[in-house]
Amino acid sequence: MKAKLPVRRAILERRTYEPPAEGRWNKVRLDFNENTAGCAPAVRRALAKLTPKHFAMYPEYEVSTKTLAKHFGVRPEELLLTNGGDDALRVFFDAFVDSKSRILLSEPTFPMYRYYAEICGARIDNLRYGAQMEFPTEQAIRTLKERPRVFFIANPNNPTGTLLGYAELEKIVKAATHTAVVIDEAYVEFSGLTVVPWIKKYPHLFVTRTFSKAMGLAALRLGAVIANMDSLAILRRAMPPFPVNLAALVAAEAAVRDTKTRQAYVRNILRVRSWFQGELNSLGITTYPSAGNFVLVNFGPAGPALVQRLGQKGILVRERSKEMGSGFVRITIGTEREMRSVAREIRRGWRKAQTYQQRYRGRSNAPYSKSPS
Ligand code: PMP
Repeated sequence: MKAKLPVRRAILERRTYEPPAEGRWNKVRLDFNENTAGCAPAVRRALAKLTPKHFAMYPEYEVSTKTLAKHFGVRPEELLLTNGGDDALRVFFDAFVDSKSRILLSEPTFPMYRYYAEICGARIDNLRYGAQMEFPTEQAIRTLKERPRVFFIANPNNPTGTLLGYAELEKIVKAATHTAVVIDEAYVEFSGLTVVPWIKKYPHLFVTRTFSKAMGLAALRLGAVIANMDSLAILRRAMPPFPVNLAALVAAEAAVRDTKTRQAYVRNILRVRSWFQGELNSLGITTYPSAGNFVLVNFGPAGPALVQRLGQKGILVRERSKEMGSGFVRITIGTEREMRSVAREIRRGWRKAQTYQQRYRGRSNAPYSKSPS
């Protein structure tokens, strides 16, 4: 029997869901901006102390919220914990966005803003990062006059790596007179730039965070929204009663306490990132400045074959050809060992591509001349 389900129009119009990649366990995982070194050992010790009684009881949030608020430098009333950073973004749609109302974003960016907007049936005002991956500040300020419900900015931006400075951010926040401004600081540990202290001045400013990146807890799904108490109270009304599981809370508390492990990891990523970019640049490959634990690379026509080559060697990277044009690839910065092996493979693949290009110059059947379909 064929089901006659009353499906919402926005869902009917949405393209089919593409599940994230699986089978990554034994691979060099440079495709999801994870902490490939793993979380702090203190996290495992904390989780090992949990008993069957802990698992059987609904989680309580007060004590953990206090600890985590202290880590973020805010009061517990200014912090909302969510089931991952993704879920922190969803709640803005539940609280502020009706079907057909407008939201603003600048692409290429983290796809979940568009994803939730499509589910909600919202209209998307879409700006673009420039050719040098610069943020379109003036255009954004102009578009804010049309009063979109929410403006999402990832800072630094995934995948471009672009970091907006304080002066530009303040211009944007000031121009957003009727808009909730969400500054997604998923990579803040790497950028060192945060607008969290501004929540005292700007009640329409919301900062989102995640424990999936520098903290290395992607599997446990913990995110956060930080905002002025009254503004956050609006979001709380759109939340389920138990959004976060106990293991995530216990792990996050242990992770924030271990400042030493985190700082050493971040320092290492910044050092390796700069080395890795230098390696690619010395081959003549274009990279863009990044304030995150990843680098956007433009391999040009050689890109698709290079990504394929890396895949064959068990190295996963994120191809962005579809939205950015052939050759754009985002590469997460992993451990020094991982980055040395990916640099080696890129060097080999790149030289091969150059040789082919010279040999087949001008011929339509050149192996590296095609864009992916
Ligand atoms: N924001 C940005 C900009 C991201 O890149 C990511 C993860 N890739 C997230 C939020 C969400 O991360 P998570 O759901 O794992 O917390």
